[in-house]
Amino acid sequence: MVDRSKITSWLTDMDGVLVHEGHVLPGAAELISKWQAEDTPFLVLTNNSIYTPRDLSARLTAGGLNVPEERIWTSALATAAFLDKQMPKGSAYVIGETGLTQALHDIGYTQTDNNPDYVVLGETRNFNFENLTKAIRLINAGARFIATNPDATGPSADGPLPATGSVAALITKATGMEPYIVGKPNPMMFRSAMRKIGAHSESTGMIGDRMDTDVVAGIEAGLHTVLVLTGIADDAEIRKYPFRPTEILNSVADLV
Ligand SMILES: [Mg+2]
Repeated sequence: MVDRSKITSWLTDMDGVLVHEGHVLPGAAELISKWQAEDTPFLVLTNNSIYTPRDLSARLTAGGLNVPEERIWTSALATAAFLDKQMPKGSAYVIGETGLTQALHDIGYTQTDNNPDYVVLGETRNFNFENLTKAIRLINAGARFIATNPDATGPSADGPLPATGSVAALITKATGMEPYIVGKPNPMMFRSAMRKIGAHSESTGMIGDRMDTDVVAGIEAGLHTVLVLTGIADDAEIRKYPFRPTEILNSVADLV
């Protein structure tokens, strides 16, 4: 039996842990209710930088899972928190959606294509030849290249969609510059989330469904890691990696 008695705060991944393709996974609603009833500090994390926390909260609520917006931490918010520390009140040329532009607005960033400090790339379905060209030229001229998340593809009902990592690869190919990527598996995503809720690594648990992002980042951030099997990981997948989570559970129902 794994000892969870020291764990007083939780971070949990969203897709494959709480929800999957629009439906709520077993135990998810009960776990969120339990944390709220017990005043447990927690955040629901996603590498998706398209939506604002308010949008995501509304989408989750519509699907039957009640998560308040202040309990959601996206790679866009983590990117904004990172830039706020690195260069307060800086400027950026942004390719992304409201989730990212709003997060940068909220930390006082100026969004401009005139000599910006950064080019910031997030998840988007609306990039075009013109804004990719602009991003490439600004990076060549000295703007630092940041991406919200490394995911090469995202899920959809009809099959994979090209995601931030694929667009970043195009810019990298054209400029020779790799982006600094803030989202998972960068443990920065967990560190900024913990800072947001006043949590400490020794007493924080992290729940995820992927070995190559959630679990490795959780281990590197010094967290108690829980892998659930409601997403893509199975026994064969787990055995491929040279590290293991603290515990493996069938679903978050085992934490209620
Ligand atoms: Mg996941």
